[in-house]
Amino acid sequence: HNYTKDDVRKLVKSEHVNFLRLMFSDLFGTLKNVEVPVSKLDTLLDNQIMFDGSSIEGFVRIQESDMYLHPDLSTFEVFPWSPKDGRTARVICDVYKPDGEPFDGDPRNNLKRVLKDMKKEGYTSFDIGPEPEFFLFKMDENGQPTLNLNDKGSYFDLAPNDMGEDCRRDIVLTLEKMGFDVEAAHHEVAPGQHEIDFKYSDAVNTADNIQTFKLVVKTIARKHGLYATFMPKPLSGINGSGMHINMSLFHDKGNAFYDKNGKFELSKDAFYFLGGILKHARGFTAIGDPIVNSYKRLVPGYEAPTYIAWSPSNRSPLVRVPSARGLTTRLELRSADPTANPYMAIACVLEAGLDGLRNKIKAPKNIDANIYQMNAQQLKENHIYSLPDNLHNAVVALEQDPTMKYALGEKLYSSFIAAKHFEFNSYRTQVSEWEREHYMKKY
Ligand code: ADP
Ligand code: MG
Ligand code: MG
Repeated sequence: HNYTKDDVRKLVKSEHVNFLRLMFSDLFGTLKNVEVPVSKLDTLLDNQIMFDGSSIEGFVRIQESDMYLHPDLSTFEVFPWSPKDGRTARVICDVYKPDGEPFDGDPRNNLKRVLKDMKKEGYTSFDIGPEPEFFLFKMDENGQPTLNLNDKGSYFDLAPNDMGEDCRRDIVLTLEKMGFDVEAAHHEVAPGQHEIDFKYSDAVNTADNIQTFKLVVKTIARKHGLYATFMPKPLSGINGSGMHINMSLFHDKGNAFYDKNGKFELSKDAFYFLGGILKHARGFTAIGDPIVNSYKRLVPGYEAPTYIAWSPSNRSPLVRVPSARGLTTRLELRSADPTANPYMAIACVLEAGLDGLRNKIKAPKNIDANIYQMNAQQLKENHIYSLPDNLHNAVVALEQDPTMKYALGEKLYSSFIAAKHFEFNSYRTQVSEWEREHYMKKY
């Protein structure tokens, strides 16, 4: 929408909105809310709503405690599930410092900065289509998630009396009421696992959509007595949840990745962009797969990538080039999962691609053979390297990648690295059930 302040005033009246939910995202991609009564609408429209930034992860320093929220009016949307006597509308906001400058610890501001660079280089839009997956678990009588999946279905299964099916339909209808263009919704490979794809859009819009999507899925699942989780690998032994990132770059003449006469009908730009993505694949991993559990998904045997390679035909490599050409020519990055902060992940893939374009980084040869059947010698001959295999190694790779540092900006970069070292260390010092089971009696 292209709402003016007056449009929003009118909508608030006509929709009988009582509360305004002001949303922004922290370093970990967690949605933060400041809720104000509708009497504060004018204060909001004047960019005068203040909050204490020192309580937000990644915003920490005391001198950064007074932050202002600048609403992005185009994101005004009434929550369809809010009760008649407490109608709530949300607006996504950018975080500003008291001196009127955008706060660089705000991932949404940072993505806009990288997009500005892109425009200076002659591109008009970076479009993203995400494919987020999630699990639906049954809840216990206290509203806590259990480990019981709600079905035994599988890919495209249509089971009778499938609670997950009803729940997913309700999610899709709610998303549509909130302006989403849902392209596909289906059961995934694992039992209890679902995927809903919505139409690609420009980078900021898609990142906003991903955040809204997660909120809607969790909210509606709860109404159905189910608990939705975007945790990448809630159960061992079955597929985990990823969030493939489809991306395309545009210039005045259309899709910059398409060239009717190029190899595979791809342009030089497409190959350079791909070269950049693959060059920074290791550095990007901590951002795309940011939690300890992400690395339980990135293992062989469950359709998730573990090697750095691309293919125009194979469905399983890190980067796939879907067969669509023309306007929908795109690259699909398959490593990321839905726990990634979407603003940060998109800023990083864009910067990686721009690095490829600026420095004419050559993409390695495509690999169409099954990488998982290659031995160490063949992997070496084909220059195929692995993605980091745990959060620690991923953070180390991020520390060694100045392009990713530039993509995130000093503040997000250093706060993220410090937080993730802390997180891994906390995990590393725990003794798990697996260890006791395997070692207690044996030694
Ligand atoms: P798959 O081949 O993985 O099944 P789909 O054809 O279902 O993929 O499309 C997945 C996603 O790709 C959708 O979210 C769609 O909107 C997105 N997509 C299509 N065209 C583009 C494009 N030009 N740029 C970015 N994403 C796109
Ligand atoms: Mg899928
Ligand atoms: Mg896909």
